[in-house]
Amino acid sequence: DNFNDLGFSDAILENLKAKGYESPTPIQAQSIPVIMEKKDVVIQSQTGSGKTAAFGLPLLNGVMEDVPAVQFVVLVPTRELAAQVYAELDSLSQNMSVSVAAIYGGANMKAQINALREGAQIVIGTPGRILDHLKRRTMSFSVVRGIVLDEADKMLSMGFLQDVQLIFKHLPRRRQIVMSSATFPYSVESLIHQHMDEPERITL
Ligand code: AMP
Repeated sequence: DNFNDLGFSDAILENLKAKGYESPTPIQAQSIPVIMEKKDVVIQSQTGSGKTAAFGLPLLNGVMEDVPAVQFVVLVPTRELAAQVYAELDSLSQNMSVSVAAIYGGANMKAQINALREGAQIVIGTPGRILDHLKRRTMSFSVVRGIVLDEADKMLSMGFLQDVQLIFKHLPRRRQIVMSSATFPYSVESLIHQHMDEPERITL
């Protein structure tokens, strides 16, 4: 099993090789084809499963490089996870002209505003700061095509439900939703039921 048959661009395949990713992890093998079909997907996974590349590679592959606007959003519960996801996507987009930005609280607002103004295409961020930019209109979701909720259970247990709901209001009606979560308490199921369209569920 390798990455060649998943429909990725040559640039992505080169980046995978450079990172030493020879074959997809089980979570990647199962979820990448479904995410590439633009379906809504719920991935039950833990850190260490390769979930970041599972949702990240289809996003990188799906960015329209000549459109200098936010096309995909990755919501994460913590700054640390934002930095990790950013690092993974940055290294997987090396020889491409895709602009990835990390947008989280406690970091310089002006630098984030500049990154957005300069055409960030994939935005990785924590709910509070993402919402802050939407309210200030320093970020627009008008051409967003997909959103990832990474570690949704943690996001909700940290009290981000209201922010997540408000962020959803800014999304275009037609959009793909991908969620990763380790556990599925009622609050997570409720979010899935409210927003996702016949999601495919991936478990190991
Ligand atoms: P994650 O679960 O996304 O935090 O990834 C866990 C670790 O696995 C990270 O250090 C990744 O760089 C690594 N990783 C992800 N996908 C692969 C792969 N297909 N082959 C080898 N390592 C991988």
